[in-house]
Amino acid sequence: MSCIFCQIIKKEMPADIIYENEQVVAFKDIHPKAPLHFLIIPKKHIPSVDHLEEEDKELMGELVLSAKKIAKEQGVSAAYKLVFNVGRAGGQIIDHIHLHLLAGWKSDKERDIPGMP
Ligand code: 5GP
Ligand code: ZN
Repeated sequence: MSCIFCQIIKKEMPADIIYENEQVVAFKDIHPKAPLHFLIIPKKHIPSVDHLEEEDKELMGELVLSAKKIAKEQGVSAAYKLVFNVGRAGGQIIDHIHLHLLAGWKSDKERDIPGMP
C-alpha cells in the first residue's frame, strides 16, 4: 500500500487539489492551521528533507516556485509562510515530503499558529 500522499497523487484518495503540473501537486490541508493552508508535494516519493539527494535539487526548486505561483493565484503574495516539518520530533506525521503554505491571517495575533513557526 503506497503512502497517503502518493494515493492523492494517483487520485486513489480524494483531496481538494488546487494546483498540478508534471512534477508537483498541491491540495488543501484537511486540518487547516491557517485561513489558507495548502500542502505542496513532489510526485516523486521522498520521505523528508532529510532524505533529499543532489539529484533532487531541481525538483525542490520546482516545489518552491510552485508555492510562489500558488500564493499569487490565491491572492496572498504579500504574506505567507512556507514550512517543512522534518522528523517526528520536528512535527512531521506524513512521510512524503511536503511544503506547507500558510496564509490568510487578518492580524499578527491570528498568525501565531500553535505547532508552527
Ligand atoms: P506534517 O505534520 O507531516 O508536516 O503535516 C502533515 C499535514 O497533512 C497535516 O497538516 C495534516 O492535517 C495533513 N493531512 C494528513 N492527512 C491528510 C489527508 O488525508 N488529506 C489532506 N488533504 N491532508 C492531510
Ligand atoms: Zn508517497
